Amino acid sequence: MKIRPRINRWTQARRNLVLESSINSSLVQPHFVVDGQGVNDEIISMPGIFQQSVDVLIETISKDVEFGINNHMLFPVIDSSLKDPYASAAHVDDMPLQNAVRLLRERFGDSIVILTDVCLCTATDHGHCGVIHNEVIDNDRTIPILSKIALSHAKAGADYVSASDMMDGRVKLIREELEANGYSNTGILSYSVKYSSSFYGPFREAASSSPSFGDRSSHQMDIKSGYPEAILEATTDVQEGADIIMIKPAFTYLDVVREVSKEITRPVAVYNVSGEYSMVMAATTDVQSRRKMVSEIFHSFKRAGADVIVSYHTREAMENNWF
Ligand SMILES: [Zn+2]
Repeated sequence: MKIRPRINRWTQARRNLVLESSINSSLVQPHFVVDGQGVNDEIISMPGIFQQSVDVLIETISKDVEFGINNHMLFPVIDSSLKDPYASAAHVDDMPLQNAVRLLRERFGDSIVILTDVCLCTATDHGHCGVIHNEVIDNDRTIPILSKIALSHAKAGADYVSASDMMDGRVKLIREELEANGYSNTGILSYSVKYSSSFYGPFREAASSSPSFGDRSSHQMDIKSGYPEAILEATTDVQEGADIIMIKPAFTYLDVVREVSKEITRPVAVYNVSGEYSMVMAATTDVQSRRKMVSEIFHSFKRAGADVIVSYHTREAMENNWF
């Protein structure tokens, strides 16, 4: 299988993200991209986080960059009229997410890192992360679609396509699709160790991706699962060509971050998820108390072994020079 260690050092911005040990350089700001013009809708359960149309998003990220926020993860929010059982809209090249990536690349060149979310759930009418066949999520019918979505994001100019689905074998197929189309410098961030967690609730409002029936327990990891399964998932993805390994959620799995980071040879990312963010926002009423709490949280991620931190606190932390 193609392993390309150069992907993580291809640009200065990527090197800063994965190699610098400071908290500032590790932080990634998530964004939710919707269709339309002038859309800037705050997500009720996540104060300070918005669904934005491309025009507003570009201005938001331009301001973020002035504050030194150089790493941006984009999630597509697909209009319900475009959803179908196969997530077809997710790999159309001129959808809002792809347009946003293209415009960001034009404006900022290689000076920022753009990561894009690759999954089916935002574009399926049933809200599941895969194709439903015989009433179950069919792994092998799903992964070719994931690789098409990844290719569409790579064409737009993403640094890393971020496979958040937890299907088996998708990193290998995405790597092959990227190589076959000449995108050998596009990286893969794999959500290798993603638990079926109750901390994702606010995100599903943000990404309008709740399943209409059932749950995600047949592909996401059980919360009781121990280290062997986490290490198996992470090492398999590394062998298939993943460039960064994600563990999600963060708070309740720091022991897993520690164990996995000891076992693998790729940078480890943690996702400080929406439920964790909402808890902190609900528990703090002023910037100073939040600064102390977030500082304690981010240092715990670093101590556990995280190289990359995806967090909704990124903007407030960077704008106020918390680190
Ligand atoms: Zn999904």
